[in-house]
Amino acid sequence: MQIEFRNVTKKYGQIAAVQDLSLAVLRGEFVTILGPSGSGKTTALMLLAGFISPTEGDIRIGGHSVAAVPSYRRDQGIVFQSYALFPHLTIRRNLEFPLEMRGARAAERETRVDRMLERVRLKEFGDRMPSQLSGGQQQRVALARALIADPPVLLLDEPLGALDRNLREQMQSEIKSLHKEFGKTTICVTHDQEEALTLSDRIVVMRDGRIEQIDTPEALYDRPATRFVANFLGEANIFENPGFNMECDVTPPLGSIAMLRPERICIATRAAPQPPDADWRQFVAGTVEDMIYAGPMRKYHVRAGRSMVIIREHVAAGKQIFGIGEKVRLDWLRSDVRYLIT
Ligand code: ADP
Ligand code: MG
Repeated sequence: MQIEFRNVTKKYGQIAAVQDLSLAVLRGEFVTILGPSGSGKTTALMLLAGFISPTEGDIRIGGHSVAAVPSYRRDQGIVFQSYALFPHLTIRRNLEFPLEMRGARAAERETRVDRMLERVRLKEFGDRMPSQLSGGQQQRVALARALIADPPVLLLDEPLGALDRNLREQMQSEIKSLHKEFGKTTICVTHDQEEALTLSDRIVVMRDGRIEQIDTPEALYDRPATRFVANFLGEANIFENPGFNMECDVTPPLGSIAMLRPERICIATRAAPQPPDADWRQFVAGTVEDMIYAGPMRKYHVRAGRSMVIIREHVAAGKQIFGIGEKVRLDWLRSDVRYLIT
């Protein structure tokens, strides 16, 4: 076990920013802490980095409690949203800094900085100042600086938060490939569900300082345990009193609600022939109330019974388009219905 939180609580006055957090991270694992603003993500990371101390509980790194270990001895590379490069130092000097701190000789520093600059495709930028680089380039320098002294643990706090959409996607692949290459145990904090789904081996969903669910990206999206997780990761149809019967393959737990992802629902004309696997499907009649076109996706809002159902379809050749007011039939596999606790 590389990193372990054991019943960690951090209080500010009466408010617990993190409450009874227990989490074990394996060597080389990429774990993302995901949650809305104020859910305690940064606090969890700062506790691990040693910038703040727990009110209760223990944090272990490599099997040893780090309660008495100051942050500069924790041997972690850290990347913040705001890059936090030294503005008055060149890129090369920024990268040399962690090596200097560890007492590396000048010749070794030079070799390692050269190699790292090459690795993040910034070979020609070594003598520039941070302000002369774009946001994406600065964030590559920040990653390089976090990795250059070869720490066993990498901490990322909203590393792509300051970048625009296209750049974020590029940086996601950059982070992924650096993780593959260097194999660092990585804890990343984000409020961006797509980032979490793309990058992580496991995701920790946080809510009000507590862990709501821990799982692989696929399991979290496909089998959310609670309504909060279902809504936070992607879009969800939640049926409390649908006005039609929701059938499923299991006996729903008492007091639970039904959930169906929008892309699991098929929309067709009322007269369309039933699909061959109709035995496993459920059908309801509805009326289109809205259609939203979003590039490769089309989204329908369909009134069925007392419920408004969201359906998401990929735009494809030959696929029928339904207009507002049109009478349609919705169907889905019973095995796609999930039961959640609220
Ligand atoms: P996140 O990173 O998920 O947005 P934070 O960990 O920054 O959340 O904060 C969690 C909660 O703890 C918030 O309610 C925040 O206001 C509170 N908090 C964080 N740091 C402090 C502090 N230094 N003093 C008082 N309250 C704080
Ligand atoms: Mg934060």
